[in-house]
Amino acid sequence: MAQNPFASAMSQLQTAARAMNLAPSLLKALQKPQRILDVAIPVRMDDGSTKVFNGYRVQFNDARGPFKGGIRYHWDTNLNEVKALAFWMAMKCAVVGIPYGGAKGGITVDPKQLSLGELERLSRGWVQAMFKYIGPWQDVPAPDIYTTPQIMAWMVDEYSKQAGQWSPAAFTGKPIEVGGSEGRMFSTSQGGFYVLEELAKKMKFVPRRTLVAIQGFGNVGAFAAEIFHQAGYVVVAVSDSKGGIVNLKGLDVPAVWKHKEATGSVQGFAGTKPIDNKKILELPIHVLVPSALEGVITGANASRIKAKAILELANGPTTPEADVKLFKRKIPVVPDILANAGGVTGSYFEWAQNLNGVHWTEREVLTKLKPIMVESFDAVWKMAERHQVNLRTGAYMVAIDRIAKAMKLRGRV
Ligand code: NAD
Repeated sequence: MAQNPFASAMSQLQTAARAMNLAPSLLKALQKPQRILDVAIPVRMDDGSTKVFNGYRVQFNDARGPFKGGIRYHWDTNLNEVKALAFWMAMKCAVVGIPYGGAKGGITVDPKQLSLGELERLSRGWVQAMFKYIGPWQDVPAPDIYTTPQIMAWMVDEYSKQAGQWSPAAFTGKPIEVGGSEGRMFSTSQGGFYVLEELAKKMKFVPRRTLVAIQGFGNVGAFAAEIFHQAGYVVVAVSDSKGGIVNLKGLDVPAVWKHKEATGSVQGFAGTKPIDNKKILELPIHVLVPSALEGVITGANASRIKAKAILELANGPTTPEADVKLFKRKIPVVPDILANAGGVTGSYFEWAQNLNGVHWTEREVLTKLKPIMVESFDAVWKMAERHQVNLRTGAYMVAIDRIAKAMKLRGRV
């Protein structure tokens, strides 16, 4: 996460507000969260002692629907970061037009240091502290970094106990057995694929001649590699935290998956050359897909990027300085709030199924996901073209316009 993520979020907001001539009262209303919950969570540890953890929920804006956003368990998690992430969630939900506001939560903790029992008590403690302020029509949390479907299962159980009734729509990202949705595991990457297809049309890329490099081979990057490869795109390089591999003729992605499963890394895959995580960003390719860390494309390396376009599946991989340089070089950057919004859209489908007591097939989920991603890309591209701004500012303008309209209609500004 960047040094001051909230400052960076507010600078993006300012840029879009200027480009769209946003009324000062609206700008002010979007510069502050509606509510900040900053709580102590006491947990009885296995050795009988009690440890107190810091827990957060920032509810940024709910003009368009219930607050929505993940809960992060991380030793560096702090209120400033959670505020930025909550703001970005409000923008993300608005840019794809799903009926949610934005929120984010977290606990400052290294979950790997806890036993399973301690982790369960901590997760239930977060729900007990937040209970009055969350719920299916109020605020719907989901997993984020180091929070899992199992943690969502504990949380939905605790919420349901407190509410006195089974309330699956209170959390998303649950295991299928307790109300989870088909396709949620790869909806971020699948949504990214639909966006890639639209981008390819604009850039006149033909899949079989389109070279793609993907930084990160986790949940998002590995599924993206698989889906892009299946559709005929030539995935030439992938990487994980240990380093990357490249073959400009293309990788056999299913075989790379097997190699990663067997050895724990993509490295050493037959017929490839090693490449480090910095150099993978500078390959002579068509589409670069950062799918791991934030802040990897910076003012320092933006001039060395040789890709013709960037698809941000990670959150926040490009710094504001890099954005300016890439725009000047006419390299479109499809921003995270659009490119990876298939994830929250998958969550929205889970919530909708839970509220209606139904379970959709994977085909039904994907059939609903595609038009949302295609139409959102189209709206952002047109907005950016009309105002001669980059796609990130275009995406913010689409989102802010929708939030502003809801705020005005509801008489909030
Ligand atoms: P993950 O933990 O499953 O995978 C992260 C990948 O990054 C792993 O392959 C890891 O080895 C790699 N990595 C770690 N350090 C690295 C380094 N220094 N250089 C290169 N690679 C490194 O996480 P994920 O769920 O795939 O999330 C990846 C990104 O996508 C994050 O920015 C996340 O916020 C964003 N995102 C995820 C979802 C989702 O549905 N999972 C939705 C929206 C956005």
